[in-house]
Amino acid sequence: MKVDLDFSYRSYEKILRELINNNYVCSLIGDGETTGKLLYLRHDVDTDFLGVLPLATIEHSLGLKSTWYFLPDCPIYNMCSDNLRRIIRRLSEMGHQIGLHIDATQYGSFQEMVDSIESQYAFLSSFLPISRTLSFHKPASWLLNDVTIPNWVNAYQKEYYSDVVYVSDSNRREFWKEERLSRAIDENRLLTLLTHPLWWKKVSLSSTELFEYTCKVLGCDAVGAYLKATCKVYSQLEPHLLVETNDH
Ligand SMILES: [Zn+2]
Repeated sequence: MKVDLDFSYRSYEKILRELINNNYVCSLIGDGETTGKLLYLRHDVDTDFLGVLPLATIEHSLGLKSTWYFLPDCPIYNMCSDNLRRIIRRLSEMGHQIGLHIDATQYGSFQEMVDSIESQYAFLSSFLPISRTLSFHKPASWLLNDVTIPNWVNAYQKEYYSDVVYVSDSNRREFWKEERLSRAIDENRLLTLLTHPLWWKKVSLSSTELFEYTCKVLGCDAVGAYLKATCKVYSQLEPHLLVETNDH
């Protein structure tokens, strides 16, 4: 694939166009589609919920559908908040699929994890359009080995992981430079592409800029701005003490 790419929205669109031009057709994880040169587009929303709709809109404009996995217990965002409800509903309106991103390290046993997934799904699906599909957050190696979760489609089961060419931007890897991606395209192989919204911005950011963005927009300074907006005792603080966040 072209090497003049970066982590900008413009580049993401170019990558998708390249795949479309090479006759890839999107299929949602769990749809059961078996024919054609299938592309499983997947996103794990580890932190940057503000980066979700820009990428989803690019995909929608190209006629593509993808699956978005959200952490039900994320320290940065809350799936019950107005902001997240709006984002998730908009994703669904665009035809994208929403699933749960599960941090297996929080559980003492497999059964405890399965029970927790079910109870979180029961609650969240009562007001959000969530499908019975999940992916694992920073999965241990045993979770990559075609693990079956009863009544769930696992994004790491073999149809979407070991049986396809699996490419991801984990650790901000510049996957478009990888030889195996070009080879997969040339050999008409099925493809899973996992991306994380944090890395992708209007203009590709440096590591330092990304760290600042994460702290100021998503992190502790956002809490300060929230206090200023909602609590009288904070509202009079000097502006330079707090970083304003836009209402995204
Ligand atoms: Zn993750």
